[in-house]
Amino acid sequence: MDAKKAHITERTAHTACPPQDYTFGEFAKLLEKTGSNYNLPLLRKAFELAQAAHKGQTRESGEPYFCHPFSVAVILAELGMDTESIAAAFLHDVVEDTAVTLDEIKKDFGGEIAMLVDGVTKLTKIPFSTREEQQAENIRKMLLAMVEDIRVIIIKLADRLHNMRTIAARPEQKRRDTSRETLEVYAPIAHRLGIRGVKEELEDLAISHLDPVAYHDIEAELNSKKQQREETLVAIQEKIGERVRELLPNAYIEGRVKSIHGIYRKMYMQGRAFDEIYDIYAVRIIVDTVIDCYNILGVIHDMFRPLPGRFKDYISTPKPNLYQSLHTTLISRE
Ligand code: MN
Repeated sequence: MDAKKAHITERTAHTACPPQDYTFGEFAKLLEKTGSNYNLPLLRKAFELAQAAHKGQTRESGEPYFCHPFSVAVILAELGMDTESIAAAFLHDVVEDTAVTLDEIKKDFGGEIAMLVDGVTKLTKIPFSTREEQQAENIRKMLLAMVEDIRVIIIKLADRLHNMRTIAARPEQKRRDTSRETLEVYAPIAHRLGIRGVKEELEDLAISHLDPVAYHDIEAELNSKKQQREETLVAIQEKIGERVRELLPNAYIEGRVKSIHGIYRKMYMQGRAFDEIYDIYAVRIIVDTVIDCYNILGVIHDMFRPLPGRFKDYISTPKPNLYQSLHTTLISRE
């Protein structure tokens, strides 16, 4: 396996505001890259209606309002969501914030998209107060129970993700309240649904506002040896890849550096120093069968010394979100 083939998990690309002369054609090129089939005429109609309906409105940052629904649509396209979800993303704030009515959306886009837009609008109206952890759990349950279509929640998560990416423009208290709610309500829902990229970015953004000093310390620590870390990760993946592919030529191998929030939790809640966190690097090996999982674990434990007491079998005991895998912590010279 060469370095080019080494997969390092990347965050979803940050979406910037589209320039004034940005056309639907350019958005369609982005969709083309996903390799999925989309109903482009319908999406064009949603894009153009949102652009026209929000015309003249601005966000607190001063950017045109359309930047927001546009970015939510991009996030959903990156997640591989369907035509209806992306159309609803473009339209998710028009009923609440413009003269366009739900009936008009139903007439022009059909009942399914209208239902998604209505669901997101209703979620926005729920008053949150998450002072108590127990209450946060109740809110999470209520959110999941009240939507008849899980896509409503996924659109809402993308909406929150873009609001968190752009929250620097809002007043301090608002930033803190929204960040706490994100950490206690939305990130756990993303986790429950298995949308890891969104979960980690929500957590990292929330921590950057709730504890900016710690956040920047960890970020600086990670950046200080960034290139070295990435090279180490690629080298470990290659070493593992050689042995694993002797047995399973089609095994998929990817690596990641732990998220800032993940490191924060270990440092501040378990009282560890940065250097005492053993799973800064992780390598995932994805195989086709359960037997292959256990066989590959044997290969890996033959290659590296496992750290005692760190092995977890989430195949025999799945996590509450149904996640199943084997975890082990290994000692290597690097
Ligand atoms: Mn919104």
